Amino acid sequence: KKANIGVVGLAVMGSNLARNLAHHGNTVAVFNRTYARTETLMKEHGTEGDFIPAKTIEEFVASLSKPRTAIIMVKAGAPTDAMIEALADAMEPGDIIVDGGNSFYKDTIRREKAIRARGLHFVGCGISGGEEGALNGPSMMPGGTEESWKTLGPILKSIAAVAEGEPCVTHIGTDGAGHFVKMVHNGIEYADMQLIGESYDLLRRGLGMTPQQIGDVFDEWNKGDLNSYLVEITSEVLHQVDAKTGKPFVDIVVDKAGMKGTGTWTVQTALSLAVPVTGIAEAVFSRGLSGMSEQRAENARTPLTGPNGDLGIDDADKAAFVEAVRQALYASKIVAYAQGFDEIQAGAKEYGWKIDLGAVARIWRGGCIIRAKFLNRISEAYDNVAAGKQEAFSSLLFDDYFTKAVESAQEAWREVVAKAALAGIPVPAFSSSLSYYDGLRSKRLPAALIQGQRDFFGAHTYGRVDQPGAFHTLWSGDRSEIQTA
Ligand code: NDP
Repeated sequence: KKANIGVVGLAVMGSNLARNLAHHGNTVAVFNRTYARTETLMKEHGTEGDFIPAKTIEEFVASLSKPRTAIIMVKAGAPTDAMIEALADAMEPGDIIVDGGNSFYKDTIRREKAIRARGLHFVGCGISGGEEGALNGPSMMPGGTEESWKTLGPILKSIAAVAEGEPCVTHIGTDGAGHFVKMVHNGIEYADMQLIGESYDLLRRGLGMTPQQIGDVFDEWNKGDLNSYLVEITSEVLHQVDAKTGKPFVDIVVDKAGMKGTGTWTVQTALSLAVPVTGIAEAVFSRGLSGMSEQRAENARTPLTGPNGDLGIDDADKAAFVEAVRQALYASKIVAYAQGFDEIQAGAKEYGWKIDLGAVARIWRGGCIIRAKFLNRISEAYDNVAAGKQEAFSSLLFDDYFTKAVESAQEAWREVVAKAALAGIPVPAFSSSLSYYDGLRSKRLPAALIQGQRDFFGAHTYGRVDQPGAFHTLWSGDRSEIQTA
């Protein structure tokens, strides 16, 4: 018997993915550079389904039925390139190489081009959900050709998470589209986590609530519009007590947030596409600030002055403020997601991808870290446009549901941002999202003044509100205006 799918790289992600595939009726060829890992997988889980372990890449490729399809789950970067090369050498035209790692979409575009030139298919597939997702159902974002999707689609659908009866996988677009969307997914995840962090900080420092009490608040929030995996685990983390000290777990953790780079890629890409993803950017910068050891140590020695973080809210008014924070969180979250979808749209335009944004929202409803009830609202918005039930909108913020949601939350949102500023609690994602919203709804922006400055020092020219063309004022001359185009 031959395998209909193979997995290369059997560390946490690869072995869980291989097991998931085997659990769903696939015959799975498995290969790992170090054979001991393959043996461990077979010894511990070999009876869970049909596996064909291989000692060499040639043996692995020979055990696959045509078109041979192999998913690579090795360390990102050079190891992934090495495995792609080795597989391409051993495979034949028409075969499919899938990179399931967190590769940068530009690498995927490059690799797809090179592999396609050799007559094979290359699919960059974003996989979200961590090790648990890989085993029990991830959300997957494959790119590549339509032809490769015909073979790969049914296999991926067999192992994907299921949300409201639908598998959380869809063909995103050609070459790097899948990894691009996965990258933005991770960026949105950063923003979502930062917004939750700011909410916690407001209740903790601002209202003096305990982590347990705040955990209870998140439990409540999880029952409404904010229902999501991240809100759910926030409550779990806040309720956790450190066994060693008896203190709240969150108080014994060093307050420096790690990152592995996908958030940074999202922001770098957004900058190059000129898409203002302020929520995601503030989230990445906040993790950066948390890691500025030298500056934070200096502040510990000679503190910068300012208010102490107490919001000064009476006990009787605390519940109302907690509700205001919930609304601010929801409004900011809408902005962060709207910005993320803007980035996907800009990427699609730049690289010629046809991306169904409603489908993207749908496959994020299960399996991945940002899974949330709220994504139903986003998919509905895009699907309504696709079905002609609603006019196309340029930003999710102009969709009727979201327009109304932000409208009803905004008084609370403004109050929270204003009070946080007065109390000295940093809320960069809350406040930048609000500024973005206000920027978007401004009839006149100070960009006019900036154009004046640019024309003054660099003769960069400006447009006039009352006439087409480009103009320059002779600032160092008689200050008359000339038309330049
Ligand atoms: P690691 O990233 O830790 O990679 C270990 C695997 O890579 C091992 O199988 C190892 O083989 C193999 N490897 C390393 N170098 C080479 C090389 N030069 N040639 C061949 N094989 C090599 O494993 P993970 O399972 O954590 O992640 C796999 C991929 O999935 C990564 O790209 C990661 O970014 C991505 N990913 C991870 C998620 C997670 O939650 N961990 C979530 C989503 C994606 P050996 O045993 O021989 O050392």
